[in-house]
Amino acid sequence: MKVFTTKKELQQHLLQIKNAKKSIGFVPTMGALHQGHISLIEQAQQGNDVVVCSIFVNPTQFNDPKDLEKYPRTVDADIAMLEQVNCDVLFNPPVSEIYDDNEQWHLEIGPMEQLLEGKSRPGHYQGVTQVVAKLFNIVNPDTAYFGQKDYQQFSIISKMVELLIMPVKLVMCPIKREADGLAMSSRNIHLTTTDRQHALVLSKTLNWVKENFDIAKISQLTHEAELTIGAEEGVELDYFEIADGKTLLPADGHSSIIVALVAAKVGKTRLIDNVILSR
Ligand code: AMP
Repeated sequence: MKVFTTKKELQQHLLQIKNAKKSIGFVPTMGALHQGHISLIEQAQQGNDVVVCSIFVNPTQFNDPKDLEKYPRTVDADIAMLEQVNCDVLFNPPVSEIYDDNEQWHLEIGPMEQLLEGKSRPGHYQGVTQVVAKLFNIVNPDTAYFGQKDYQQFSIISKMVELLIMPVKLVMCPIKREADGLAMSSRNIHLTTTDRQHALVLSKTLNWVKENFDIAKISQLTHEAELTIGAEEGVELDYFEIADGKTLLPADGHSSIIVALVAAKVGKTRLIDNVILSR
């Protein structure tokens, strides 16, 4: 695997690939890689000649400086994992390679920006669109792969690609879970053994909602889910929402895709998860 830390060297390398008419698949990450990330790499490998992964803990998407500081960084282990699956290229730049001092960014994304994660993490999606736009400009991939795990992020990035007419195809990959159902996440490293047990209420409740989706009202399902999660020791519910999969507003009779999304603090760690209920 070739590892680059500067835009210039990465772009020189990718130019040869583009000149040879090879397709580029791109998987942006913040590192602390797990099998969820690896599943994105593997899906990118199936559809492209060359796969580029980036590892960049993006400071502009963290509204809490402590959260940024605490974010796990395991670059050596990440490189070993990427080499094991034969990823072709890693871009691992320092912050100074991506941002100038006091850089400004604002993209008018619409109402979705303020919902769910946006409500709890003000400015988060401005930071996400800022970094993904830069990474797309640097890598210029044919296709970029993102996880359903961050469902709202995928919707926001799709909107950005549409608004800015970016020549990239987006693919959403399924959520990878531990054997007991917990959605894989870099943040799971912070869970204590007891947190880890309590965290299972999230995936279990989402499964229960999926199983009962055809027989119960959305309002009932939401109410029950809120009660169950709220009653779990050590778990502080942020939101549980059954939403329209396109707008992320509360689902109604016109919703063609419906998704249940949850965020909660388990111990000191904030986790998110979701399940698609109908298409
Ligand atoms: P992150 O490093 O957390 O920014 O995630 C990088 C990419 O991996 C994003 O597109 C995430 O949605 C995706 N991802 C994270 N966790 C999972 C998972 N458990 N299954 C599938 N994709 C995931």
